[in-house]
Amino acid sequence: MRILIAEDDLSIAELVGGQLAGAGFVVERRSTGPEVWEEGEIGEYAAIILDLGLPGMDGLSILKRWRAAGVETPVLVLTARGSWMERVDGFDAGADDYLPKPFRPEELLARLRALLRRAGRSAAAPVARCGRFTLDEAARRVSFDGKPIDVSAMEYRLITYLMQNRGRPAPALDLALHVQGRDDDSAKNAIEAMVARLRRKTAADAFENRRGFGYLITDEPA
Ligand code: CA
Repeated sequence: MRILIAEDDLSIAELVGGQLAGAGFVVERRSTGPEVWEEGEIGEYAAIILDLGLPGMDGLSILKRWRAAGVETPVLVLTARGSWMERVDGFDAGADDYLPKPFRPEELLARLRALLRRAGRSAAAPVARCGRFTLDEAARRVSFDGKPIDVSAMEYRLITYLMQNRGRPAPALDLALHVQGRDDDSAKNAIEAMVARLRRKTAADAFENRRGFGYLITDEPA
């Protein structure tokens, strides 16, 4: 499940990103207002964590623009000030929940999960399909050719990421960043080992490796 973290404070972004990645979410981070606005509008996210004080364009304006443009992604607002007025403005602008700073990452995770559960009530949790893979996000289960396969949290994140990028090769370093939160050589090697392991659990041709471009799951029915 992809989450966008819109936060210009690097230490908070890293703390939150680490917590969410550890909980099995795929995390994208943006730190300036214009980038956040664009990414929230075009990217497909299960939820967005939005800091109100962003450089270039403030969070409330971004949120209003998203809602005006029909973006319905649940948004959890963060603010340094935590004033009542800001909170009211946030809800008026279309926020789904609100968390004043400072907060504990565990609390953010709990709020995010509650938000996703509420969002899931109005729309059934999607079961995604890509090629021979099926992903049940609610149950966090992966099937291959209709049979459930045993995957670790990291393997689950890797498959999710490739399914979201269907047909588009993802370089091993990108995968390392998304799956493990770092993009050094040892993380890259770990990704290669993970793909080899997943091929043994599924099929040798379940993951394509386009030399020089990266890994992908081809979206063709078996
Ligand atoms: Ca800020």
